[in-house]
Amino acid sequence: MGLKNCPECGRVFVENPAGMCPACLEQEERDEIKVVDFLRDSGKASIEEIHLATGVKEKTILRMMKKGRFIGDFVISYPCETCGTLITEGRVCLACSKNITSQLRNEAAQDAETVAKIEEFKKVGRMYTNLNKNK
Ligand SMILES: [Zn+2]
Ligand SMILES: [Zn+2]
Repeated sequence: MGLKNCPECGRVFVENPAGMCPACLEQEERDEIKVVDFLRDSGKASIEEIHLATGVKEKTILRMMKKGRFIGDFVISYPCETCGTLITEGRVCLACSKNITSQLRNEAAQDAETVAKIEEFKKVGRMYTNLNKNK
């Protein structure tokens, strides 16, 4: 077990699985209760709204979310990783995922073109082969 600087407050602490000092861990547990209470009342909120209502840092809320702490009938919206639009599931918004999909499709289409060309060459080849056979 080594000593580490707490990523939250910078104090030195004895390393633990939570990765933060006991004081911050306690704070995070309190924050979590605050956020869950707020979510129970509102049912649906953006991270910004949660932050404004509870005073919990957006970064902390995101981290808790990623740990799967807010499982229930809550809908939490958070920014798309690409453009910042608020989303409630996945990592990017619909528009960005469409963009990514169409990019992939373009690549696939290029491939399809190549495949078609190859097929055509094959056909032509076969035609010649057939002609040769008929001779
Ligand atoms: Zn700390
Ligand atoms: Zn987006």
